[in-house]
Amino acid sequence: MSYATLKEAFYAEGAVTDCPVYDLHGHMGAYYGISFPRPDAAGMVHAMDRAGVKLLVFCHHGTLMTPDVGNAANIEAVRRYPKRLRAYCGINPNYPDVIARDIAEYDQYPDVYVGVKMLADYHGYALTDARYAPAWELADRNELLVLIHTWGGSLYDGPAIVRQAAERYPHARILMGHSCHGEWDKAIALVKEFPNLYFELCAVLDERGVLERFVGETGSERILFGTDLPWFNHHYYIGSVLGAQISDEDRHNILHRNAERLLAKYEL
Ligand SMILES: [Zn+2]
Repeated sequence: MSYATLKEAFYAEGAVTDCPVYDLHGHMGAYYGISFPRPDAAGMVHAMDRAGVKLLVFCHHGTLMTPDVGNAANIEAVRRYPKRLRAYCGINPNYPDVIARDIAEYDQYPDVYVGVKMLADYHGYALTDARYAPAWELADRNELLVLIHTWGGSLYDGPAIVRQAAERYPHARILMGHSCHGEWDKAIALVKEFPNLYFELCAVLDERGVLERFVGETGSERILFGTDLPWFNHHYYIGSVLGAQISDEDRHNILHRNAERLLAKYEL
């Protein structure tokens, strides 16, 4: 069946073959203080199936919060679902020895990693702190994706810090997770100034009109879709993109084309 708009197609079919969804911001596993119904790899792939999500790039909560688990949790999940999952190598600046080991071993996992993940606000060191440098240098050398948590007003990963990182590591493909939430003008200015910076939509879509501003100011080719799965629901976020006042071409860019371009060098 053919439909006049992507919105009609998604609403009728639930998932649309020629508009697969790439979720470039996920997590995995249980987390303190909240109950997730199905946070394990099988449950998350089930959720992806329901919403037509082709690929999730994630970093396991165990990696980010439990250094003795570390990246083993990512590796294990991707190898169970190699057609559906890829991981960001998690970088926790509180454990420089773990970082050194994981960076040294990074190349052993071309089937698992597409980049690195930094969660500076939670880990308590600014993105530009020397503890992160080995990971940034790896990403800069190899043009890897770097998913960073960014938030307006943060001393660890707010717009001023993102600017320094983007200047210092021009070859890293930096995804601003949450797009400096709240400081939208500064996020827009950064994307305009630095070709290596991208918006990422997780939590952005809780405010109406912001996606339209991003598209209006910078076009739709530097915007990536993400949900923080299992924190948020795919249908809610896909519906927000479908309901925004942008074109279907923009929606194709955001939901899959931009991700396909960034991931083109990987065997998926
Ligand atoms: Zn996240």
